Amino acid sequence: MKQTFDTLVVGAGYAGAVTARALAEKGRRVLVLERRDHVAGNAYDRPDQAGILIHQYGPHIFHTNDKRVFDWLSRFTQWRDYRHRVIANIPDDRGGRMTYPVPFNLTSLETAFGMEEGKRLGDKLIAAYGPEKKVTILELRQNADPEIAALADYVYEHVFVHYTMKQWGQKPEEIDPATTARVPVFLSRDDRYFQDAYQGMPLEGYTPMFQRMLAHPNITVELGCDALERLDVSGDTLRVDGEPFAGPVVYTGQADELFRFRFGPLPYRTLNFQFETLPRDDFQGYGTVNYTVDREYTRITEFKHLTGQVLPGKTTIVKEYSKAYGGILGEIPYYAIINPANRALYDRYRGLAEHFGNLHLLGRLAEYQYYNMDAIAARALDLAERL
Ligand code: FAD
Ligand code: UDP
Repeated sequence: MKQTFDTLVVGAGYAGAVTARALAEKGRRVLVLERRDHVAGNAYDRPDQAGILIHQYGPHIFHTNDKRVFDWLSRFTQWRDYRHRVIANIPDDRGGRMTYPVPFNLTSLETAFGMEEGKRLGDKLIAAYGPEKKVTILELRQNADPEIAALADYVYEHVFVHYTMKQWGQKPEEIDPATTARVPVFLSRDDRYFQDAYQGMPLEGYTPMFQRMLAHPNITVELGCDALERLDVSGDTLRVDGEPFAGPVVYTGQADELFRFRFGPLPYRTLNFQFETLPRDDFQGYGTVNYTVDREYTRITEFKHLTGQVLPGKTTIVKEYSKAYGGILGEIPYYAIINPANRALYDRYRGLAEHFGNLHLLGRLAEYQYYNMDAIAARALDLAERL
């Protein structure tokens, strides 16, 4: 079969779609193979049966400090101005429940310890670290001052340890420190989850943004197509549909799967999403509520708060349950479990890929990293510039 494309992209999520578009604009003829029956990867959104726009693979909020990425994506969407705010919902010591902002901040401190005591402790923290500073929980726990150490223990116990056990099956000190550093203690009154310069939601959703991105005369997208049935990396030369293929191949799926798990599977965490549509206008008043101490799920997200959709009398929420990824059919590897042993295993797969001069591993799965959407878009634009 004569190949009608000179570039192959596997996956139509951020990594694949951004690379495909950027290369198509450089004149390359790009074939995109996507295993799922839709584009947008894990950012995919769609209306549910109640007509509420949901994120099928978990809540996605766009935020970045990278103007280049924001401007580039803005070619394909307008934005809804949205600032994500998250609250922790925990049992209090009177048999009820209490809530305060996460990241744990000066307001959280006053809610947890009372106005006066909270303010005193806040001033003490600011004296130690400086105003508006972000301090990771692991760093805070190193503080030798007995009062700050006790406070660190409180935050560890009420915000981090149980949530992290649910999410990772391990304690904060056992996982990659960069993970809990995503949600530091914030010596500020700013209760936004992210402080980035650009934040928002694609006005009509992520999926239309991806559809526009991929709508280019030089791009062909084949959905429902597993690239592993067409791409052969078992020999010295990379082959596509049985023919040697010398053009760039950008692979955004799992590296271990690409090489048929030759060195064994890479460990991941997966999630079960439980969606519920409720007969009321509003369920929780916030986009996301984290259950940081109890409950089986880690968090509940209510989509209408993210999207701004107005639909009286009904609302859809999603609860997230985390567990070890077992590689069974239908399970999705959402989070790489980053530690030295797993990284070493990943590097062996990367070594196999590097053997082919034209095979590029890109994206959260293919690079075995904890990347946000903007980071992947930036890496995709960089790669497309080099190719
Ligand atoms: P993916 O989106 O996973 O896309 C990879 C695509 O490749 C998939 O569509 C897959 O089907 C396809 N594929 C894989 N193998 C093959 C194959 N063999 N053949 C054909 N197709 C294949 N980031 C943020 O910035 N903000 C957030 O709020 C946020 N929330 C998140 C919440 C959750 C629960 C999760 C899991 C992630 C979140 N992220 C968030 C991260 C975001 O999802 C990723 O940064 C982004 O989706 C990565 O894009 P990607 O293209 O690398 O991977
Ligand atoms: N985390 C926590 N309690 C919280 C929020 C986050 O312990 O209330 C920790 C937890 O280990 C989590 C990590 O910080 O996995 C990163 O949180 P983030 O909200 O960035 O996770 P994501 O949205 O990527 O799942």
